[in-house]
This record gives sequence, structure tokens and C-alpha cells, in this order.
Amino acid sequence: MLRTVILAASRSSRIERLVATAPFSRDVVRRFVAGARTEDALRVTRELVASGLAVTLDNLGEDTVTAEQATATRDEYLSLLRMLAEAGLTPAAEVSVKLSALGQSFDEQLACENARAICAAADAAGTTVTLDMEDHTTTDSTLDILAKLRKDFPSTGAVLQAYLRRTESDCRELASAGSRVRLCKGAYSEPESVAYQSAREVDKSYVRCLNILMSGAGYPMLATHDPRLIAIGEDRARWFDRGPDQFEFQMLYGIRPEEQDRLVGEGYTVRTYLPYGDDWYGYLMRRLAERPANLAFFARAVASRK
Ligand SMILES: Cc1cc2nc3c(=O)[nH]c(=O)nc-3n(C[C@H](O)[C@H](O)[C@H](O)COP(=O)(O)OP(=O)(O)OC[C@H]3O[C@@H](n4cnc5c(N)ncnc54)[C@H](O)[C@@H]3O)c2cc1C
Repeated sequence: MLRTVILAASRSSRIERLVATAPFSRDVVRRFVAGARTEDALRVTRELVASGLAVTLDNLGEDTVTAEQATATRDEYLSLLRMLAEAGLTPAAEVSVKLSALGQSFDEQLACENARAICAAADAAGTTVTLDMEDHTTTDSTLDILAKLRKDFPSTGAVLQAYLRRTESDCRELASAGSRVRLCKGAYSEPESVAYQSAREVDKSYVRCLNILMSGAGYPMLATHDPRLIAIGEDRARWFDRGPDQFEFQMLYGIRPEEQDRLVGEGYTVRTYLPYGDDWYGYLMRRLAERPANLAFFARAVASRK
């Protein structure tokens, strides 16, 4: 019910105008999104890097349905990477890319070529790319494209979602030397046939996957705001003797900023996922609609900085 209402709101240009111009909106959106322009992304990246955080930038885009849109997204990443390098913000800043924004849903080959161009630009800028993971129907295709990209750009990062039943096995596959793997719980609404449904099952799966990655040879990137999972990550880092250059924590921009600072103060590498672009309305509404629990997630972030 709630999901249907949010989805309807996300498609309504009247509600979008209302939300976009409401006095409280600017502050709420600014809390989670750097701004509409590339310059906004650069400015916030500079501030975050100055405070000791690493950053991964995500260019927000509407659903990509044409090759022209996919190319425009690719070009935005190419100029972003050039600007990051010119500003001296690499390698502290890298980029996160959604293959769907590069054409994956209608032309896998095109998405792969676009991603390859972004990886080459990242390489030239002295940094890396992480391929975001979307809903489970795209997992195989995304991992196939990752394997192709890693032949030329071995530091390309993968994302695995603990709520998927297959993920433990994917972690084993990807826990090899030099392999950067972001582990998150997963943000989409997935059927029971492929995904754990209860929070407890998802958390248990996260810990099993974390153990595989932290005891393996790769570079784990623990993406979570969950205090219990962060504490387990800290514990395993001590246990497996992993220093700040051998794994990292990741959190979303605007969520638990004080915890991000605390971890930096403890000497850990912490990377903030920073979205920017003018499609913030679609971004926030889709995150809410995909999983109405995200409503509580964002509301909690507005109420608390810890
Ligand atoms: C860097 C990064 C990249 C991501 N990339 C992807 C991706 O590619 N694909 C994908 O599907 N998903 C991605 N996600 C989203 C992820 O899958 C989860 O949906 C999201 O992170 C929420 O899960 P959680 O682990 O924070 O725990 P939750 O289950 O949301 O929260 C667990 C606990 O954490 C604490 N907490 C959470 N939020 C707050 C808050 N705002 N304020 C205070 N306490 C809080 C509370 O104690 C809460 O009970 C990414 C997340 C991050 C951080």
C-alpha cells in the first residue's frame, strides 16, 4: 500500500514540484545529495576529503532507455573524473557506476563499452570504479561485465548484496588477491526464492559473507550503517590483522556522519557514497519505494547524526 503510494508520487510531476519547492525540501535533499551540478559534487568531495574521508561519487540519472542517454551518462563520468584529477582529489575519490544508466537493460554490449571507457578515464585519473549492484535479474550480467573489465582494469570494484541467497558463494569467487568487493545488505524488493526476507537472516548472511571476505585475499569494503555489523567488522580487522589500507568501511552521505568521523578518528579508511545530479527527486523516491523501510531509514537520518 505504502509502496504504491510512494511509486505514484515518484511519477507525479505535480508532487515533484510541490516537494522540490517546499521550504524543508532543500535542507533534507542537501543532507543526502551533493547538489545538481558537477561543481557541487566537487565542492562537497573537497570538504569530505579535507575531513579525512574517502569518497565514491554517483551521478544520479533517470531510467536510461536510449543509447543517447547512456552516452550522456558516460560523458558526465568522463568529465567528472577529469575534474577530480585536476582538483587533486584522486585517488581519495573514486566513482560508483550503475550499469543500467549505461544501457544494460537494452544493450549489454553498449553498457560494457561505456563502463570500459569510464574505467580507462578513472585509470588515467589515478583512481578506480565500482559497479553498483541493482536488482537480482541483473546480477549475472553485472558480474560478467565485471570479469571483462577486470581483465584490463583489475581494480574495478564489485558489489555483493547479503540478502541474496547466492552471495556467500559469490564472495568465495571474488575473495581473490586485489579484488575490491563492497558488501551491502541490498536495497531492492526481492522475492523469497532468491533473497532472505527477515532482517535477522540478512544480518546473519552479512556476517558469513564478511567473514569470507575479511579472511580472504581481496580488499573488502564493508558498506553498512548497522552498529552491530560495524563492530563485527572492527573485530575481524583485528583478528585478521588488516590495517587501514587492507579494507574499508563505507556509508551513504548524510547517514550517521558522526559515526563516519569516529571511525576515521580510530584510524580506519571510511568512504562516503556521494550522489549528485538533478534527478534527486527520483533517486530519493525510488529508494523509498523499493523498500518502504527506507522511509524509516531516511527519517532516522534526519532525526539523528549518530
Ligand atoms: C556505500 C554504500 C553503497 C551501497 N551500494 C549499494 C548497491 O550497489 N546495491 C544495493 O542494493 N544497495 C546498496 N547500498 C544500500 C544497502 O544495500 C542498504 O540498503 C543500506 O545501506 C541500509 O542497510 P544498512 O546496512 O545500513 O542497515 P539497516 O538495516 O538499514 O540498519 C541497521 C541499523 O543501522 C542503524 N542505522 C541505520 N540507518 C541509520 C540512520 N540513518 N541513523 C542512525 N542509525 C542508523 C540502526 O541501528 C539500524 O537498526 C549501499 C549502501 C552503502 C552504505
